[in-house]
Amino acid sequence: MMKVYICPSCGWMRVVSRRKDVECYKCGEKSMILTKMDFTTFAEMPEKERSAYAAAWLYMHQPPGKGNREKFRR
Ligand SMILES: [Zn+2]
Repeated sequence: MMKVYICPSCGWMRVVSRRKDVECYKCGEKSMILTKMDFTTFAEMPEKERSAYAAAWLYMHQPPGKGNREKFRR
């Protein structure tokens, strides 16, 4: 089962299967967050839309102030 994860620090997205701790290779963030997007949607999504999604995700999940990343952990 493939899952789509996003980095709460830089918005980089990545597809992972059967992993518990997902690390961001772009900025080194140790715990990426599972998105609700399914793999097929992600795979068919053009690069432009991916960045738009990431930007929207970051906007919704990281209000000004940051530093509250912990609450996104399962
Ligand atoms: Zn990152």
